[in-house]
Amino acid sequence: MGKRGASFSEFASLCSELEKISSNISLRKKLAKYFKGKKGRTIKYASYLILGQIGPKYEDLAMGFGTKTMVKILARTFDKDEERVRKLFKKKGDLGDTANTLSKRKRSSLKLKHVLDRLKKIQKTSGEGSQEERAEEMAELLQDATAEEAKFIVRIALENMRLGVGEMTVLEAFAEAFTDDAENKDVIENSYNVCTDIGELGESLAEHGMKGAKRFSISLGRPVKVMLAQRVDKVSEILEKIKGNRIAAEEKYDGERVEIHKDGKDVQLFSRRLEDISDQYPEIVEGMRKCVKAKKAVLDGEIVAYKNGKIQSFQKLMQRRRKYDVKEYRKKIPVAVFLFDVLYVNGRSFLKKSYPERRKKLESIVNQSTRIKLAGRKVSTNFKEIKKFFQKCVDKGLEGIIVKSTAKESVYQPGNRGWLWIKWKKEYAEGMKETIDAVIVGSYHGRGRRKGHYGALLCAVLNKDKDRFETFTKVGTGFTDKDFESIGKKLKKLKARKKPKRLKVKKRMEPDIYYRPEMVIEVLGAEITRSPSHTAGEKDGKGLALRFPRFLRVREDKGPEDITTVREVRQIKK
Ligand code: AMP
Repeated sequence: MGKRGASFSEFASLCSELEKISSNISLRKKLAKYFKGKKGRTIKYASYLILGQIGPKYEDLAMGFGTKTMVKILARTFDKDEERVRKLFKKKGDLGDTANTLSKRKRSSLKLKHVLDRLKKIQKTSGEGSQEERAEEMAELLQDATAEEAKFIVRIALENMRLGVGEMTVLEAFAEAFTDDAENKDVIENSYNVCTDIGELGESLAEHGMKGAKRFSISLGRPVKVMLAQRVDKVSEILEKIKGNRIAAEEKYDGERVEIHKDGKDVQLFSRRLEDISDQYPEIVEGMRKCVKAKKAVLDGEIVAYKNGKIQSFQKLMQRRRKYDVKEYRKKIPVAVFLFDVLYVNGRSFLKKSYPERRKKLESIVNQSTRIKLAGRKVSTNFKEIKKFFQKCVDKGLEGIIVKSTAKESVYQPGNRGWLWIKWKKEYAEGMKETIDAVIVGSYHGRGRRKGHYGALLCAVLNKDKDRFETFTKVGTGFTDKDFESIGKKLKKLKARKKPKRLKVKKRMEPDIYYRPEMVIEVLGAEITRSPSHTAGEKDGKGLALRFPRFLRVREDKGPEDITTVREVRQIKK
């Protein structure tokens, strides 16, 4: 690209403008205006950076800088006392703003591509003595930048852009910039569910228009978003909704979703957040090499804690979910995977094949073992049999069943929650309401026994259409002392000085402390009503609200973009 590549300063001033905008439509318009007419490569780089990433989500590209290290780096960059930087940070509440104040530089020749390359190089620098090298390179980059550029470089390094721009806003901006029809957003979103590399998708759309959205297919090493299941309130609804006479019911395992990519001896495991979790489950990686007969394959399944032929609890599995001491924990908490789908085999995509065809293929390429298993199931035209199977699952201690359509059109739909898969859990059968996955966005100080801890947590669901988080409930019960401690510890790192931009909250519900929307919890509630206190799917000043909520568990396997959506809440309320 040489001298003619896109400048970083234009990108930084775009970020400054976005920071001031709160309406989602204006954010999209501004972003689309920037994208329009730019080269494909520029779109690619800018799409990552605007989200505070340096590459696609599924590549393990965390920058790994904490605020303490960044304070030191800023002191070094601008030749200031660390104490002074710390004080300024305290006043400003953000290290990007701190860098902006400390830097005096007004001009730079930084290019978008070079900033990205340099950040990537810093990210790759690891191992002994790397701290020093990383700090040195970061300081050099900040010295080359203008004050405004430094502000956003610091925020990228801390992976928190604070612009209020989420993936959906970027996809909408693509639709507006590269196609004439905003309606195209749905097609683009479906394409993103398959491609999952937002930069690559943006580049393709910029170069080929809508044709560029249709070029993507599943490929090894790049996870697709997994298919999700719908829910029903009454068991009879399953029959109304599911297509086809024959029904397949599979055991529903309460563990961690995993998408497995096998390329010869190379095996990669991806979580539903698209993180590479291969290192956490070495016995699954080894098992896949041995048990999958196809040389290349993409498989879908659920990992559970599994000891002496018995499935263990979800909590046990979460203790196993760790980056360190894997060897020790592998012995303590062994796992197994229950495979239920196949998406790709030896160069052929199976996404468009029907469920019966996929299941047949799955059975033909897997030799089961202690660690690698196929999901147990029952196929029948008689619904009584399905109900019997459900009871058997519950008696065995499983969560319930997933009913799957066997009709011709029962394709695999990445990222979609449709009527081809329907979940039926024992909680529903017991007349209790569905659980909600919500993100913690704030807390209120506790009193009495809870003094010094939070008293209640303000939680939000995701409004996908507006690409923001809307409050839905305030949870104060169901926590053990241990929960308090561990949640409190994690929340400390997510503290935010101001209301996060992507959060919509009513004045009367403002919490004592705000948090970056990152930590997901599962909550059980008695009823969904309309309340003037909450903002979820607000209509006539009243939002949807969950009454009598009770904390169930932390969902480390889910990210803020995977939580329950306003649309789903509306459906449950019906
Ligand atoms: P939920 O998390 O309650 O929305 O339930 C859907 C989840 O159940 C999926 O995302 C999977 O992680 C999990 N699951 C467990 N067993 C199965 C199965 N046999 N088929 C599909 N999904 C399953």
